[in-house]
Amino acid sequence: MHSEMNQGLIVPGKISIPFSYAAGRTASRFLVELRDNQRIMGVRCPECERVQAPPQRVCLHCFVETEDWVEVGPGGRLVAHTVIYGQKPHHPAVSPLIHGLISLDGADSNFVHLIQADRPEQLFEGVRVEAVFAEDRQGHILDIEYFRPV
Ligand SMILES: [Zn+2]
Repeated sequence: MHSEMNQGLIVPGKISIPFSYAAGRTASRFLVELRDNQRIMGVRCPECERVQAPPQRVCLHCFVETEDWVEVGPGGRLVAHTVIYGQKPHHPAVSPLIHGLISLDGADSNFVHLIQADRPEQLFEGVRVEAVFAEDRQGHILDIEYFRPV
């Protein structure tokens, strides 16, 4: 007797689950600034004065509320990057896609986003990168289409 008869046949499937959520006060302002003004905003902690971007309502180090908005970037330095081969349906770009960790000018936290480069040797620790904004912005993190070396 076939093992599928005893253990059950595995049938592959796919579920698509569209959803919406309320971004909240802090993320909403961040996303509206990207969409309407092509500005990357962070918040400065009143205690330690660290600037976090993307902004957090509460400082991750001091646990106090942050209200002091400051513009950061759009340039910065690449801290690290990784190249991802193999296309997956949830990937926001065509493979091979590159995720980068970016130290934006004026920020004390690192920012994760897509990187685009013509040649792999353009990407190394410390190289200057800058944000490239999408033409059609929706109030989404991908309103920054990618960062590129400059
Ligand atoms: Zn702090």
